[in-house]
Amino acid sequence: MNLVLMGLPGAGKGTQAEKIVEQYGIPHISTGDMFRAAMKEGTELGLKAKSFMDKGELVPDEVTIGIVRERLAKDDCQNGFLLDGFPRTVLQAEALEALLSELNKKIDFVINISVDKSILMERLTGRRICKECGATYHLVFNPPAKEGICDRCGGELYQRADDHAETVKNRLDVNIKQQEPLLTFYETKGYLRTINGQQDINKVFADIQDLLRGLA
Ligand SMILES: [Zn+2]
Repeated sequence: MNLVLMGLPGAGKGTQAEKIVEQYGIPHISTGDMFRAAMKEGTELGLKAKSFMDKGELVPDEVTIGIVRERLAKDDCQNGFLLDGFPRTVLQAEALEALLSELNKKIDFVINISVDKSILMERLTGRRICKECGATYHLVFNPPAKEGICDRCGGELYQRADDHAETVKNRLDVNIKQQEPLLTFYETKGYLRTINGQQDINKVFADIQDLLRGLA
């Protein structure tokens, strides 16, 4: 069960990744975790990645792909893996194809959790945080009993700058633009499966399970 998980911020990718990992016992491989592990182990590529990150620079593709190669060759990937956050570009996707074929593996599905931009905006701009105790609320999904006031301590609620509409819209636009050629690439390959992420979390997962039934 070799999977790549895609979805825009707010689409619920993290939640579904957790459920997939729990249900099918395959490792969840996110770029961040992979980098951290490689640095901690002090592998040559890990140290190389660290030298770029320490300078605040992007880790070059060849280093990233090398780290992915080492990760996918590990024993726990024998029955499959769930890649999350990689690949980000068509170039990386092509490199992934090449390295999987080296390892005698191939992608089964690229699962794209699809949610309309307007709904993502609602999800991502609704968060409110208590100034006093840090409790988090959501205007739609978890509203406080009294508008603007923390249920727990009576503190004032505020919106983080990251959650402001303009910031969120920009972040989504960047991600949409980045994701488009990748979706086209995987559609052409025949791997792409689109899951409706605008449903209840459990229904989204049920759809994923339906998709994976033949692989387990
Ligand atoms: Zn509070």
